[in-house]
Amino acid sequence: MLKTRFTELFGVAHPIVQGGMQWVGYAELVSAVANAGALGFLTALTQPTPEALEKEIARTRSMTDKPFGVNLTILPTIKPVPYDEYRQVVIEAGIKIVETAGNNPAPHLPAFKAADIKVIHKCTSVRHAVKAQSIGVDAVSIDGFECAGHPGEDDVPGLILIPAAADKVAIPMIASGGFGDARGLVAALALGADGINMGTRFMATKEAPIHQKIKEAIVANDERSTNLIFRTLHNTARVAKNAVSDEVVAIEKRGATFEDVKALVAGQRGRHAIEDGDIDGGIWSAGMVQGLIHDIPSCEELVTRIVCEAEEIIRTRLGHLLAN
Ligand code: NAD
Repeated sequence: MLKTRFTELFGVAHPIVQGGMQWVGYAELVSAVANAGALGFLTALTQPTPEALEKEIARTRSMTDKPFGVNLTILPTIKPVPYDEYRQVVIEAGIKIVETAGNNPAPHLPAFKAADIKVIHKCTSVRHAVKAQSIGVDAVSIDGFECAGHPGEDDVPGLILIPAAADKVAIPMIASGGFGDARGLVAALALGADGINMGTRFMATKEAPIHQKIKEAIVANDERSTNLIFRTLHNTARVAKNAVSDEVVAIEKRGATFEDVKALVAGQRGRHAIEDGDIDGGIWSAGMVQGLIHDIPSCEELVTRIVCEAEEIIRTRLGHLLAN
C-alpha cells in the first residue's frame, strides 16, 4: 500500500484519481474506479440538467459504497451553464469531495466549505495553484502540458510544473497530465506530488462507458496522436488527432473566430463520436499518454497493476540503486 497525504486526507486506498471527463465521467466508470480503491469523479456538465446530476449521483451510490466526487468545470461553453444549481445538487446530495477546474473556484468555495466538502482545484500553473491554496481549497491537482483537455496557455510540461508547484504549495497535490502507469506514479511522488490523476488511461478500461472503437483507437494511437485546438482563442484544448481536429487547426491557422469552428467542435458532436465509435465524427479529448496505453483492462486490474508495480519500482529498482 502506498500511503500519502492524499490517501489520508480523502480516505481512499490508493493515490490515484480519475478526474472530470466530459461524456465519460458517468456512474459506470466512477463506481468501478471507487470499487478499485481510487477516487473517481462524476462530471457534472455531462449531465444535461442539475436534476439529471442528482439521479447520476444516486445511480453511482447504488453501484459503490466507496467515496467518489463530482467535477465542476468552469470554462467557456456554447450554452450558458447554471453552475449554482449544479453546485446546490452536489451539496444536497451529500457529496463530500469536489474537483473544480477551468476557472477560479472562489465563488463556489463558501457554499462547499459550509457543507464540509473537500475541494481539489485542478489548475495548469504554479500561480493558480498558489492562489487556490490561499483561498482555502484542500488540495490542488496540477495539470501539465501533456494533458488531455485544457492545458492552459503556458505550455509547461509536468516535469517542470509539478516540482515548481511543490516548491510553492503546502497542501496535498495531485499530479495530472501524462500519467498512465506505475512509472508515472513513482515519478510524480518523486517530483513532490501525493498522487496522480489519470483521464485518458481510464477511458481505455472495460468499464468506461464509451464505444469500444474509441478505446481501441487510444491503444493504437501514440504520443503524437493529439492536436491542440483553440490556441488562437486562448482556450487551448488537447484532443485526439482526427479529421475534425485537423480541420479545426487548419481553419485556425487561416485566422478564425469561435463561430468559424463552432459547428465542428460542439460538445454534442464529440459526444456522438465517442458514444457511437465514430473516430472522425467530432472532437474528443485525449492526451499524449496514449503513447503509453497498450491494453483495455478493468479499472480494478489497472489500479492494482499500477500500485503493485509502483511498489516494486520503489523497493527493487530504486532500492537497489541505494544498496549498490
Ligand atoms: P461546448 O459544446 O459548450 O463547447 C465545445 C468546446 O468549445 C469546449 O471545449 C468549450 O470550452 C469550447 N468553447 C465554447 N465556447 C467557446 C468560446 N466562446 N470560445 C472559445 N472556446 C469555446 O462544451 P461541452 O462539450 O458541452 O462541455 C462543457 C464544458 O465542460 C466545456 O467548457 C468543456 O471544455 C468542459 N469540460 C472539459 C473537460 C476536459 O477538459 N477534460 C472535462 C469536463 C468538462
